[in-house]
Amino acid sequence: MILIDGKKAAAELRQELKHEVTGLKAKYNKVPGLTVILIGDLTPSQIYVRNKEKSANEVGLKSEVIKYPDSVEEKTVLEKIKELNTDETVSGILVQLPLPKHINKQKVIETILPSKDVDGFHPMNVGNLSSGYESSVPCTPLGCYLLIKKVEPNLNGKKAVIVGRSNLNGKPMTQLLLKENCTVTITHSKTKDLKAECLEADIIVAAVGIPELVKGDWVKKDTIVIDVGINKTDKGIVGDVDFDEVSKNAKALTPVPGGVGPMTIACLLKNTIECFKRTQI
Ligand code: NAP
Repeated sequence: MILIDGKKAAAELRQELKHEVTGLKAKYNKVPGLTVILIGDLTPSQIYVRNKEKSANEVGLKSEVIKYPDSVEEKTVLEKIKELNTDETVSGILVQLPLPKHINKQKVIETILPSKDVDGFHPMNVGNLSSGYESSVPCTPLGCYLLIKKVEPNLNGKKAVIVGRSNLNGKPMTQLLLKENCTVTITHSKTKDLKAECLEADIIVAAVGIPELVKGDWVKKDTIVIDVGINKTDKGIVGDVDFDEVSKNAKALTPVPGGVGPMTIACLLKNTIECFKRTQI
């Protein structure tokens, strides 16, 4: 079984991006800039943002974090986004989710200029991705896609089963694999026989949020299994895939932690650089 090392893949990607930023700096005499807006003092969000800032600095991006208290008014955040939209030194804008209840997430997402939407959540980017046009792609599915391609560069005709249909993970994952000519089945909580669907798959991507849902006897011998889940349990952090069982069966599997997670941040940096490049003449 191939243990897909997300930490190593992310380190390699960051190295490539660092070289790319050096080249862009030499060519344009400026570097891509990422601005993250962090609202409130939720510990996981603070940790994510700190890691994003650290990684951005490591590859040579200009990085900035704007912090607001939980009580910040929605209009203050929207005004700040509009200001960043017109700031030429800012290539990418990310508003860390989740947001306090009084702030409308959709309004925030739609206020970000699509060309600076490094999360790929703006409806214009969602539409472009599903139409096969150039777009920002949500970072986690992009990371999953890059890991799958490392194991199997040619995905033509492969049968992929996506478990979970969230806008964040399942749906964009579907689009990315469709583009690669996979035959994609997207499953969810109302799917009748999830085990039978998974047993058909050459590729399984599990993004559900249920600890160890995907079992060993759901997986064929030659299946690539990508585990997006991050679930806190009594035995620590586990994924949506039963690692011990599935690792005996699958062709390749991502561990949790150390699989998809590290790729997510590296892909955010990649998206920031892509946004920068698209605006240069
Ligand atoms: P989400 O928005 O809660 O969506 C979960 C999806 O799973 C829904 O489509 C739901 O179906 C489906 N589902 C629920 N129970 C199911 C079942 N028994 N069988 C099949 N499908 C079922 O979750 P998410 O935001 O995509 O996150 C999924 C997991 O990924 C979480 O553990 C999250 O922490 C993790 N995550 C990891 C990263 C990373 O960087 N590694 C990033 C983001 C999220 P319905 O639509 O029918 O309700």
